[in-house]
Amino acid sequence: MTSEVSQDWKSIVHRCFRCGYCKFTHSYSDFNCPSYKEYKFETYSTGGRMWLIYGLINNDLKWSQDLANVLYACPTCGNCTENCKFEKFKGFLVDIIEAARAEAFNNGFCPENQKFLLERTRNSNNYNPYGEKNSDNSELKKKYNLPEKAEWVYYIGCTSNYRQQDLRDATLRLLKKAGIDFTLIDEHCCTSPLIRTGQNEIVPDFINYNINQIRNAGASKVITSCAGCYRTLKKDYEKFGADLGFEVFHTGELIKKLLKEGKIKILSNYENIVTYHDPCHLGRHMDMYEVPRDIIKSIPGIKFIEMKRNRENAWCCGAGGGVKIGYPDWSVEISKERLEEAKETGATVLTSMCPFCRTNLSDANKKFNMGFEIIDLIELIDQLEIEVND
Ligand code: SF4
Ligand code: SF4
Repeated sequence: MTSEVSQDWKSIVHRCFRCGYCKFTHSYSDFNCPSYKEYKFETYSTGGRMWLIYGLINNDLKWSQDLANVLYACPTCGNCTENCKFEKFKGFLVDIIEAARAEAFNNGFCPENQKFLLERTRNSNNYNPYGEKNSDNSELKKKYNLPEKAEWVYYIGCTSNYRQQDLRDATLRLLKKAGIDFTLIDEHCCTSPLIRTGQNEIVPDFINYNINQIRNAGASKVITSCAGCYRTLKKDYEKFGADLGFEVFHTGELIKKLLKEGKIKILSNYENIVTYHDPCHLGRHMDMYEVPRDIIKSIPGIKFIEMKRNRENAWCCGAGGGVKIGYPDWSVEISKERLEEAKETGATVLTSMCPFCRTNLSDANKKFNMGFEIIDLIELIDQLEIEVND
């Protein structure tokens, strides 16, 4: 397993020709880049960042904390990858930003706040970026009467296990109700927060550890309710040279399959106006747009209304890429803009499929008194009466 992502990105950074399209929405009516919208300075747009990176890796610019900070003032939402006009280049934009952050880290310029993520995660009492005592999940295994070995592993993820336990418990109940043969492992952080902030030092060891735990559980499939874990397990582990030997699914994919096959059926009515927020790590990063919408549409009585910016064009919740820990006030301001957009739909319920989005949207909901019920789609389904068929 290699310890770093491919170095090829250095030879393509110069391809950005500074046209500037990456910072607009598809209709060019507004800025789509939270970073440019906040700082209103070209270096904070993707094109500007590409040229900053080019200058740094070619030694035309000297590394400094101020320049490194520009690299970190970006939630890696990927909206620029949808709007860059250069087809053969746009898919690399977020990877290049992350790889440049790894350079910043290696040169000693990772910002102080983001460094906490690594410090806490590498601590053998924690193995998670929240600094909580590591849970080996044995209590949960006992509570839900889970076997030692099973076809599926439910990889809970740190945010669900230490901050959004309602989502964790709803997922556990749903999997049980649906009769899925699953178990839990003593998991360590998937390393998403570290990869996103360029702190790759311990990533290969954590990847090896998690893969071995999953293999020891005899599982051929892994499921997670976290968009960040999903992207990391499914995409980044292989980027770091890992050979998984199991398939990775988001919980939404399993629910959609069970609904389609008639193995579960939602019986109760849910008579609320609901809108859906696309998590960047599920949508733009993994192209999963229709799965949650298909699930929502299978709920009797629901009135589903899209926000103006949806799917590829969705506005970020502002939590990703180390922005939540690095820029806490700005992070909830980004979420506030999403909630204002949700208000325009007339919805009272805002649902999503990521515990990290849930956290940040809830923080903004509380701080700005927006009055929404913020609930993960798994929790919403868990509240309803479900018929299970063999
Ligand atoms: S990833 Fe998002 S915030 Fe970062 S440069 Fe691209 S559009 Fe802007
Ligand atoms: S990243 Fe793409 S859209 Fe943005 S300035 Fe460069 S080439 Fe143009």
